Amino acid sequence: MVNKKMYQLGSAPNAIRALFAYGLARKAEIGEENVFDFSLGNPNIPAPDAIKQTINHLVELPSNLVHGYTPAQGSVGVRNAIAASVNRRFKMNAAADNVYMTVGAAASLTISLSALCQAGDEFIVINPYFPEYKIWIEQAGGACIEVLAQKDSFQLDIAAIECALTSKTRGIIINSPNNPTGVVYSKDSLVKLAQILNAHQEKQGRSITIICDEPYREIVYRSVKVPFIPTLYDNTIVCYSYSKSLSLPGERIGYIYVSERMPDSATVYLAVCGAGRALGFVCAPSLFQHVIEHCVEEQTDVAAYAENRALLTSGLSRLGYEFVEPEGAFYLWARSLEPSAEAFAERAKAHELLIVPSTSFGCDGWVRISYCVSKKTIEDAMPAFESLMKEYS
Ligand code: PLP
Repeated sequence: MVNKKMYQLGSAPNAIRALFAYGLARKAEIGEENVFDFSLGNPNIPAPDAIKQTINHLVELPSNLVHGYTPAQGSVGVRNAIAASVNRRFKMNAAADNVYMTVGAAASLTISLSALCQAGDEFIVINPYFPEYKIWIEQAGGACIEVLAQKDSFQLDIAAIECALTSKTRGIIINSPNNPTGVVYSKDSLVKLAQILNAHQEKQGRSITIICDEPYREIVYRSVKVPFIPTLYDNTIVCYSYSKSLSLPGERIGYIYVSERMPDSATVYLAVCGAGRALGFVCAPSLFQHVIEHCVEEQTDVAAYAENRALLTSGLSRLGYEFVEPEGAFYLWARSLEPSAEAFAERAKAHELLIVPSTSFGCDGWVRISYCVSKKTIEDAMPAFESLMKEYS
């Protein structure tokens, strides 16, 4: 006998992964260059040179220094380095004991949700949303409450969020730059969000935490600024990952930053440590903790994504596609050419275009096109996008 819920999760197809697997099989069949795979958010920009140099240096050190256990929450060295970087960049006052090292944003979020959630608590997500949020919230014992983003702009709908607040609201997940829409939430909207949450906290006598899911923080275009939410709202936890910002998705390294401005920051940090322990997420990969300690201020050069973005948006708008102008991340959120996004993505497949229907993110009528691919893939895909458009003309 197995846990029925886990069995169902394991056997339910993840549509994005299924599309990616289909792409691999199709490439083997007709040649890699003939399949235009825009399914996954797997960064194609190489990690910065400093990462390789640091790894080369570290592996020559005594094995136990590099590969041994660290404290459960991560080595003091890396947590100090991250706290110092947060303080320098955002004028905060973080210390090592505000930082918990994790295996990427997925673990940062599951730990944070488990640390905060008591049975029946509600967590708000903004639809469209990263599909795993619902699974992680429910696994922590909470209820996932979906609030639609604003129509067309996909910015936060503050009035709708306010309507969704109840006596059970425990938190809200904010993901900016956003997957799947590429939107960066405006400072104005985040200030308003802070106002309604502060008012609701006071009215209910209960704390509401913003959980910032930030794996795309550094991937922005045209010098767009991503507001740092802990400077706008005290009751905030940041879930960060180096998967996208340093192109290290397979290394599984990230952190949780429990803002020192939270009224009960020390208690929340201990609950994070407890949740990490309960979930078995202790001592994130030691080699990469050391790498991050040395490379905490490194950045990938997002120029290639910017070039892809320009190529894709100009090409698709010339062909008559409509989309949200992306300000960050590496996703283009384009309007489906028929009401059913799934039917549209299926028709795209016949042109060897692999794009993700918006139903994977909780809504219909749109598709996500990941442009963390080679420039050549985008150039070569244009005739396929053109013939797809012709089918609807
Ligand atoms: N949150 C969002 C919005 C993501 O897009 C992803 C990955 O694509 C994750 C979390 C998980 O990131 P990680 O690979 O660091 O666990």
